[in-house]
Amino acid sequence: DIAARAVGVSKIYGTGESQTRALDNIDLDIEAGSLTAIMGPSGSGKSTLMHVFAGLDSPTHGRISIGDTDITDLDDNALTLLRRRSLGFVFQAFNLVPTLSVMSNVTLPFELDGRRPSALELAWVRELLGRLGIGMLESRRPHELSGGQQQRVAIARALAMRPQLVFADEPTGNLDSKSSREVLGLLRDLTREYQQTVVLVTHDPVAASHADRVIFIADGSIAHDVRSVDLGAEP
Ligand code: ADP
Ligand code: ADP
Repeated sequence: DIAARAVGVSKIYGTGESQTRALDNIDLDIEAGSLTAIMGPSGSGKSTLMHVFAGLDSPTHGRISIGDTDITDLDDNALTLLRRRSLGFVFQAFNLVPTLSVMSNVTLPFELDGRRPSALELAWVRELLGRLGIGMLESRRPHELSGGQQQRVAIARALAMRPQLVFADEPTGNLDSKSSREVLGLLRDLTREYQQTVVLVTHDPVAASHADRVIFIADGSIAHDVRSVDLGAEP
């Protein structure tokens, strides 16, 4: 199964002299249940690629599908619904609500969907907090947490509704190496246990080493596309 597909996708910012081709004719299939890392220098187009996949930005040329749905021509309302129901996001700025407890921040996606989490869903949220090592922090507020703890709260929120596809921008950017391994291990376990699909942008080779596939972007194009069989191969 294909979780997300880009066909002939280009993204051009600006016009005339000040034009930037952030993505140049990208063809890419992300398999369901995979953990894919996107790497590349600053300005190479990684964020733009994630944004067009998530329907946060529309491609200048080409088409994007999420699951079986071609999202290229969907209007903003349809895209918002799709994001709420099917996608999870971990941003570099954690976007936690300062007045809400950790638990309320993590269950916010349910509120935004206009409902309360069921008992099963709450049990899942508690399991997630436990697996992320922040179970004891559920009634704290964000300002009472370290950067790494806040990052793990943001990750728990992205996973709370078990979205089929999760996008994470530098999810280990604020974590020490032990916490990084735990977070990456969890993301990988979720792809195995629930066929969840995770796409992360990272500069961290340790994070990339947990991936099934590493895609290197340079100047808006795919420069290398390496599967874990190759990544794990020892001479
Ligand atoms: P990365 O995430 O790899 O650092 P980006 O996708 O952010 O790269 O940027 C790719 C290119 O597109 C860069 O040249 C950047 O300056 C340009 N760019 C990104 N967003 C915009 C924007 N909103 N307007 C104009 N140019 C942009
Ligand atoms: P709403 O109008 O209800 O806020 P949005 O479309 O803004 O709905 O948000 C849907 C999801 O997309 C949310 O998870 C939100 O955090 C994320 N999102 C919206 N806009 C952006 C953006 N410009 N950059 C990154 N994420 C965004």
